[in-house]
Amino acid sequence: MTAPAVVVEDLHVAYGKTWALDGVDLEAAAGTTVGVLGHNGAGKTTLIRTLTTLVTPTIGRVQVDGLDVVADATAVRRRIGVTGQYAGLDEFLTARENLELIGRLTGLRRTARPRADALIERLGLHEYATRRVGELSGGSRRRIDLAASLVGSPSVLFLDEPTTGLDPIARTGLWEVVEELTAAGTTVVLTTQYLEEADRLADHIVVLRSGRVAARGTPSDLKRIVGGKVLAATVPAVRASALPFTPDTERPVDGGARIRVSVTVDD
Ligand code: ATP
Repeated sequence: MTAPAVVVEDLHVAYGKTWALDGVDLEAAAGTTVGVLGHNGAGKTTLIRTLTTLVTPTIGRVQVDGLDVVADATAVRRRIGVTGQYAGLDEFLTARENLELIGRLTGLRRTARPRADALIERLGLHEYATRRVGELSGGSRRRIDLAASLVGSPSVLFLDEPTTGLDPIARTGLWEVVEELTAAGTTVVLTTQYLEEADRLADHIVVLRSGRVAARGTPSDLKRIVGGKVLAATVPAVRASALPFTPDTERPVDGGARIRVSVTVDD
């Protein structure tokens, strides 16, 4: 079995007297996607900032790709990519220039330009390649920002609410890119406020509430816990035994002539 790409054990992070994280455990197997769900202030950004070495744990242990985020912070940074809620791009440069600049800053020399071109190709960014980022829509910027986080060929990618504020088309476009990355073996830790996003992208979901894990499981586990989608029907009592499923609930109606049945379904 391969070692997990992300390990978080008993993580506590305090900002003054506020415990932004209050005992979080989490693991991401290599090549899988973990979705971290939670309302505003639940601690999602703090978790991402800790995993990406920007915040030091007050208590607990955090490892990325087998390396400790405190003791081996520099090595961790070389192996990760991060896309935050706001694109960190230079508005006066084109998408290609931004990607090339980041390549040079991270130590790629002659290969910075081919790497930028390869990412433009892979993420389908041709139409933005020669346009200044300042002229582009929020959705296009997020895709370029995602490309920027891939310049260093990260083995673990952190996406902090990557589609917040995007329209449905831009959101779907970004999801497709993330799906391609995970299919190619990248481990992804994604925070989101959208159930639909976690459902579509994550193999495993962790729900944070006030800095603690309120629930965890696969998307279908969680849907079962919270009820998921329920199919309800009223059927003649004499036909009830012929139903192709075992109902979760049954209630006689019309004096017993018919039965109201319901069952939880995945979709
Ligand atoms: P959002 O969805 O709004 O981004 P979040 O789930 O990412 O929220 P965090 O930003 O991690 O939540 O915040 C968790 C808690 O820590 C909140 O109570 C917040 O007010 C607090 N907090 C975050 N950053 C700081 C800081 N730099 N100083 C003090 N308190 C902070």
